Amino acid sequence: MSRKTIGLSDDRLFDYLLSVSLREPPILRQLREETALHPWARLQIAPEQGQFMALLVQLLKAEKTLEIGVFTGYSSLCVALALPPSGKIIACDISEEYTNVARRYWQAAGVADKIELHLAPALETLDSLLANGQAETFDFVFIDADKENYLNYYERSLLLTRRGGLIAIDNTLWNGLVADPLIQDSRTQSIRALNNKLLSDNRISLSLLPIGDGLTLALKL
Ligand code: CA
Repeated sequence: MSRKTIGLSDDRLFDYLLSVSLREPPILRQLREETALHPWARLQIAPEQGQFMALLVQLLKAEKTLEIGVFTGYSSLCVALALPPSGKIIACDISEEYTNVARRYWQAAGVADKIELHLAPALETLDSLLANGQAETFDFVFIDADKENYLNYYERSLLLTRRGGLIAIDNTLWNGLVADPLIQDSRTQSIRALNNKLLSDNRISLSLLPIGDGLTLALKL
């Protein structure tokens, strides 16, 4: 029996994990390699996390999903490829430049018609979805945008998600900074505030996975 999660600081073990489990399609690998040259490349999720999110989408039999924070589109492409032909992603971002890369890969992968990109502050898009009667209609939500708004994104996402739907929140271990009391910048504090809120939130079932930079799963009850 193991007392704690196995560490992957050993590169050999991490490489082994990838070698026996990662099934990254060529189109995703190309996007990851192009994004690796980008100055903000660290904003992209890890490929094993993308594959895990695709599995979650399949498990949920998701049809309608929401992504808050697109960047160059790796996570949305993972989800889009896992959705059925009738599936849909409402994708929120503010950068035309970064999402132009995403659009190019959505086209190349043949999933562009599944993705509706909203280039606007995500809170505005979420509020308009709520105002348009789309509460409790989403099967899956991925939150991975500006950390200062994490609590706002979470509260709106919870309204938009159906019962039994899942909200996945990225970077909740924040490169370890959340556990260091000397770190008090606004982004770290916002992630801590969300983590603390979720612990006692009886509207959800909760798990925080040490995959990538920490991925919190909140299942709406
Ligand atoms: Ca992230």
